[in-house]
Amino acid sequence: MSSNPDLLSVTLTLKIHFIHRPHDRRSHQLHTQTRSHQLEDLLKGILRKHLRPPDSEYNFNVSVSDAIPLSRHIDDTRPKGCDARIYKVPIGVSVSVIVIFYNEAFTTLMRTAHSVLERSPKSMLKELILVDDFSSNKDLGHDLDIYVKALDPRVHILRNSERQGLVRSRLHGANMATGDVLVWLDAHTECNVGWLEPLVYELYKNNFTIVQPHVDVISSDTIQFFAYPGDVYRGGFGWDLRYAWYKLPKYLSQVLTSKLDPFPTPILVGCAIAARKDYFVSTGQFDEGLNIWGGEHFDLSFRTWLCGGRILTVPCSRVGHMFKQFAYDFNGDRSTIIRKNLMRVADIWLDEYKWIFESVSLIFGQEPQVSVEEIHSRVKRKHLRKTLNCKPFRWFLENVMPEIRIPTKLDDFFGEITNHKTAQCWGPLLDGYIAITNECFMHRILPENHFSLDKISQLVHDGQCVYMDESNLLLRKTKCLCIHERKGRGWKFNVVGKTGGQLIYKDTRGMFWCAKHVTNITPLHFGKQMVQMGRCNHQDPYQIWTFTYKLTEIKHNNYM
Ligand code: UDP
Ligand code: MN
Repeated sequence: MSSNPDLLSVTLTLKIHFIHRPHDRRSHQLHTQTRSHQLEDLLKGILRKHLRPPDSEYNFNVSVSDAIPLSRHIDDTRPKGCDARIYKVPIGVSVSVIVIFYNEAFTTLMRTAHSVLERSPKSMLKELILVDDFSSNKDLGHDLDIYVKALDPRVHILRNSERQGLVRSRLHGANMATGDVLVWLDAHTECNVGWLEPLVYELYKNNFTIVQPHVDVISSDTIQFFAYPGDVYRGGFGWDLRYAWYKLPKYLSQVLTSKLDPFPTPILVGCAIAARKDYFVSTGQFDEGLNIWGGEHFDLSFRTWLCGGRILTVPCSRVGHMFKQFAYDFNGDRSTIIRKNLMRVADIWLDEYKWIFESVSLIFGQEPQVSVEEIHSRVKRKHLRKTLNCKPFRWFLENVMPEIRIPTKLDDFFGEITNHKTAQCWGPLLDGYIAITNECFMHRILPENHFSLDKISQLVHDGQCVYMDESNLLLRKTKCLCIHERKGRGWKFNVVGKTGGQLIYKDTRGMFWCAKHVTNITPLHFGKQMVQMGRCNHQDPYQIWTFTYKLTEIKHNNYM
């Protein structure tokens, strides 16, 4: 055997390799340690040198972030079994990660960078592009260049010469990126172990896919990284185009074979998005007409679904995001800018459902004026919608988000009915009686808690009407009665104060009652938090309710 020269050479190489490995490893470790000490010293110097704004100006605990390492251990939050999965992707696929930032805290921004560099396969990650959207904080200037240079040659910084907002900053990064796959991350995220491979895998399994990881939470108070426990939620929207989470509907959870399987998601969360560059470019990228913040993830999501693509959330890929209140200036009035962006998205995508967005959002006050340039620019995007041969918005509602409840022109009020005093809302029980639940809107929409009060005095839930059970004064939903069967029964909303009002019910004898949040003492559902009718008293806060939306008639004076 040993006379075979080929085998001999293999054995020799192996031997040499074996002999050298421990030494190599030690020198590699030493090198890494020296490098990380250098980086630590560099960071200490930068933090000492700059008197950064106080934590309150960032709206999170920057002091804690500054005190913990940039390269830190976080729990593996993937569901069991993910680490055993094998993700085969075409050889040579390269990834560009783009992180845009405007006046972000140095340490959270760099912790994002460290996590990308340390938890992405070396063979896949081609570059990490940081796009500075014209930040004014001094620590993000020259010292950031120095830190990044010492960190890794794959990191590049692009600097906008004026504030562009998040869409044009992400596009700037995308235009400069040379990878096959683009991943956009917010500047206060952290990638967990094995985050990239399952995303890239899905992008090559189906050419017309955009994916996002499962988004974990980085606490803005403790900077801890954790997975939110409980049910699986997916991104959707409320009719004022607020981003909202919806429970993964049964029709989907029943067909998924495993908790590890990617699932279709109506709306991207926005803080972590991955797409193949070729597909992203062919489908119209981001809408450049959206300013500073807001609307872009709705636009990209509607466009993807309606124009032949799909969006998946990949549970085996985990990226943490710090959810916090806005800290930065908007370079103009914040609510007007967001509103204009959402009006644009609604105008381009919502078709015959646009009136709902317009009428529910008027409660925020005056509509911003739409300029002629804006109208022209929207026409271009509408034209793109035609060119891409996109489906009508109705298709999205019917096929992508069938769980959403849709108000009709007959409705005056719509959504959850929440008590002013207890902040809890109406939730029907299986027998049709109306109880109180604390699972109310907290960035989550539970369609099963949606009611509407209509122009013909009906309080409707899921096609049934709510009437008073005269034996115990509780409320119950049953088949809607036609007008002559109602014998005068009906509902009215009587506004009290700025946002709330009484829900007044007229019974068959013409008596008036008001809905109240009570601890029930009647035998049926004894002891439960219920809605019960009582004598009206507008000073009783347990009788004051708000609907999520009031539908106001719109006067078309500033639209096309
Ligand atoms: N951002 C930016 N320019 C802006 C506004 C935001 O570059 O004018 C960046 C910001 O630093 C962050 C990302 O865009 O990395 C998303 O913004 P943010 O985190 O405020 O959005 P949220 O997560 O609250 O939706
Ligand atoms: Mn963010």
